[in-house]
Amino acid sequence: MTHANDIHIAFFGLGNMGSGMAKNLLKAGVKVTVFDLIQAPVDDLVNCGAIGANTPVEAVSNVNCVVSMLPAGRHVESLYGEILPKLKDKCLLIDCSTIEADIAKLLHERAQQAGHKFVDAPVSGGVAGAAAGSLTFIVGGSESDMLAAKPILEIMGEHCFHAGGPGAGQVAKICNNMLLAILMSGTSEALQLAVDNGIDAAVMSKIMQQSSGNNWTLEKYNPAPGVMPATPASNEYQGGFMVDLMNKDLALAMNAAASNSSLVPMGAMAKSLYQMHKKNGHGSLDFSSIFKAYSEQK
Ligand code: NAD
Repeated sequence: MTHANDIHIAFFGLGNMGSGMAKNLLKAGVKVTVFDLIQAPVDDLVNCGAIGANTPVEAVSNVNCVVSMLPAGRHVESLYGEILPKLKDKCLLIDCSTIEADIAKLLHERAQQAGHKFVDAPVSGGVAGAAAGSLTFIVGGSESDMLAAKPILEIMGEHCFHAGGPGAGQVAKICNNMLLAILMSGTSEALQLAVDNGIDAAVMSKIMQQSSGNNWTLEKYNPAPGVMPATPASNEYQGGFMVDLMNKDLALAMNAAASNSSLVPMGAMAKSLYQMHKKNGHGSLDFSSIFKAYSEQK
């Protein structure tokens, strides 16, 4: 299954991330059948050349590969529960959602028992990376399953790391996202401290970018409105990566820490901040809106 012409993918989950990823598969000449619970993104993808399906079972009726990009573990477990008995022989299954490593391991087992290949392949790079085809895939699974998935992942992304066996992609992903939440909160805190003391957020951002506080949020995803034109912060925190999803990832990180007695004081603080932010009614905003928790205090 190395040529685009040999692949027929059923793609599930056409949200902020999945929509751009599925479009890149189509652009590469891959045959894609799409399914989402919401009709509008299905119609959009059909306009781009995809085949629309009315049910998950209809979507997999003729495919040799599945890609899923769903919100959380319960959605992924339920989807694969429904489609696994309906798949053709020897399919390649790629779940790109960020979910519990234990659910990923369970799905690996069930897929293997049914004669399929399975990788957990969560991503980093955000909505812009999904649209541009420049995502980083963090893969868990056997070496051979990872090699089978690689040509497809390389259509949607630029980097592909093999983190380890089943579930390892998910573990690595939540470690990264815990750090991202800490960086986003800390960057917001520093920027607002500057603003409160008379320094413009854009000026402070430039200074920190060239100083020891530089990090990904300053380079690509500034949380202060108006500093970077193409970020969610400059679009009333719409689109992007929702606070609700960041809270889910931080809960996954805290659970992983609890099960191994890992010390995560900074992650726990970031989790409390994001939980408070959600309780203040901001669950559906982009996660960079944590800046509001600092800027709207006065
Ligand atoms: P989203 O909420 O924008 O999209 C999820 C889509 O899945 C929605 O369109 C929803 O209708 C659909 N869906 C839900 N259940 C379904 C089902 N059973 N069958 C088919 N479709 C279903 O979420 P998103 O931002 O695209 O994130 C998806 C995943 O990617 C999450 O696990 C998230 O943690 C992860 N992620 C997101 C980002 C980001 O920047 N947004 C970055 C990295 C990873």
